[in-house]
Amino acid sequence: MRKRTGIRGRLRVDLERMRILISNDDGILAPGLAALVHAVADLGDIDVVAPDSPQSAAGHAITLRHPLTVRRIKVDGPRGFCGISVDGRPADCVRLAVRNLVPAVPDLVLSGINAGSNVGINVFYSGTVAAAAEGAMFGLPAVAFSAAVAGDVDFDAIARHCRLVLDGLLKAGIAAGDVINVNIPPLEGGNPKGVQVVRQSKAEIEDLYVCETDPDGRECYRLGAQYAFGPSDRDTDVVSLGEGYITVTPLHIDRTDYPAVERLRQHFADRNV
Ligand code: MN
Repeated sequence: MRKRTGIRGRLRVDLERMRILISNDDGILAPGLAALVHAVADLGDIDVVAPDSPQSAAGHAITLRHPLTVRRIKVDGPRGFCGISVDGRPADCVRLAVRNLVPAVPDLVLSGINAGSNVGINVFYSGTVAAAAEGAMFGLPAVAFSAAVAGDVDFDAIARHCRLVLDGLLKAGIAAGDVINVNIPPLEGGNPKGVQVVRQSKAEIEDLYVCETDPDGRECYRLGAQYAFGPSDRDTDVVSLGEGYITVTPLHIDRTDYPAVERLRQHFADRNV
């Protein structure tokens, strides 16, 4: 257990008993969250702090315009748990949890399991990844779990794969401040082909805004639910997940383009403008 100051280092599985904060973006009642809580319960003390309503595609938004209402609730069901709901965004949940709500700073932050994959540039839109990234911004190791699913699925089976990947990550060591983005392929066709550690694809999303007319006759546009990625390089999360592999992509909070820093530094040093 850490003090509320945050400690940078590398989390290894040999920590005696971890304190784990779990959040998500599908909301505190989402079955993927309950499955994840259940799948890691034996690893330590679990705190669940999650949005009170679905927040998919919230990205890394935080709430400034209203106070965040929290409720301590018991989620019923076979995978029931006690947790705290927040009427905010995923990043709000993790930030408020670490600052105020949990008894001690977590050793590990988990997010998910999201109903839907978060690969490629969806990483930027993802509230699931943002919740984990918020943990990483506190210098904590963080893992985001998402599954390429649609509709009702067996999240327990998905959670078992998440747990196996987490065990592997803990053995390998997760660098504090890193976000590990994990995606599970559809399981209808059987077990995943394996685990591939791959980079994030930058492939374009080919989506469609559907033009509609609202009840007052105003022109409006709805982003269609269907989308596809454009061509993507091999050895990326988009391609590997599509081929049926579990993908593991370590992300950086520091988004600096270092070669560009050098190039621009040179430019401004030479010309002073
Ligand atoms: Mn979601």
